[in-house]
Amino acid sequence: MRNNIDSVYIHIPFCTTICSYCDFCKIFYNKKYVNDYLNSLNKEINAYYKHDIIKTIYIGGGTPSSLSIDELRKLLNIIKIFKLAKDFEFTVELNIEHITKELLELLYKNKVNRISIGVQTFNQEHLKFLNRNHNKEEVIKKINLAKKVGFNNINIDLIYAIPNQTKEELVDDINSFFKLDVNHISTYSLIIEPRTKLYIKKVNNIDETLDYEMYELINERLTKKGYNHYELSNYSKPDFESKHNLQYWNNLEYYGFGAGASGYINDLRYTNTSSITKYINNHYRDEEEKVNSKIKLENEFILGLRKINGINKQEFYQKYGFDIYEVPNVEKLIMEGKLIDNSNNIYIDSKYLYLSNEILINFMV
Ligand code: SF4
Repeated sequence: MRNNIDSVYIHIPFCTTICSYCDFCKIFYNKKYVNDYLNSLNKEINAYYKHDIIKTIYIGGGTPSSLSIDELRKLLNIIKIFKLAKDFEFTVELNIEHITKELLELLYKNKVNRISIGVQTFNQEHLKFLNRNHNKEEVIKKINLAKKVGFNNINIDLIYAIPNQTKEELVDDINSFFKLDVNHISTYSLIIEPRTKLYIKKVNNIDETLDYEMYELINERLTKKGYNHYELSNYSKPDFESKHNLQYWNNLEYYGFGAGASGYINDLRYTNTSSITKYINNHYRDEEEKVNSKIKLENEFILGLRKINGINKQEFYQKYGFDIYEVPNVEKLIMEGKLIDNSNNIYIDSKYLYLSNEILINFMV
């Protein structure tokens, strides 16, 4: 029997400015394309959605908020096809400069109950370096507005390890975040990826030791303030973890719609074309990979050990029908003290979290 697919990711690839560090699937906002894009998205959803009860929807990008109010209204109408579970989570990513009362009210009235905002830093100089068009005062104003409209589940994206950023500046950013009094934060170390403006300008990543110290500093400050470190890069107040992202880390299936989106359905992982022209012409999937039991197991560890609580042993047994200790390297890593078994869960020892890739490599097929 086919499993119910609980989650939906929708990619909106349009952006009004291109950030200097960005290697995501995106293009400059162009009114001419948006309407065709949404029509094609509607067709894709209608072709693949099998009327599952959906627990989480996540609209990401790109910048979903770069769409005009009418375009967003059209998008939200397309999304009405999804049958929602009672305790659904519906997230939309927003950029500060696009936030208006009208936009927030439109989202709120259309069942969006979580917003994720790309703040990145509060430091004017670093914002400029990242090519982000907002300032600290706007961030405060817009988040207060969102709260007034009714949003109480808000995530902030924060970038650290920005070239020339000092630890004091990072502390300033963390303190500014605390003043916003929101319940979730995703923190990302800036990695200069190929095909970005920073890479072309030959900007280098910061020194690894400083990167580690910044990671530790964030961890210490946030946990002291009552934020629960529940995934490598994510912290939340109790009960405000991202249900949608936990779906990925729990290695569960989900729909992915839109150009460049990835999905995982019926043991098949797929990625849609990142060409907007192809997508508009109703060409959707570009790559497909059948997930055999070995790959599924590999993903279970690579994704599951990102969570600070790791993998629940009983759930593992129910899913795979054998004991987690039968997986090669589990016992060895526990003996080495890199993995911990607290009798319910197996997780990475906090000392090794920063270097978790070196542990995860042991589970690669
Ligand atoms: S980081 Fe986000 S807003 Fe900036 S260019 Fe990339 S997708 Fe667009």
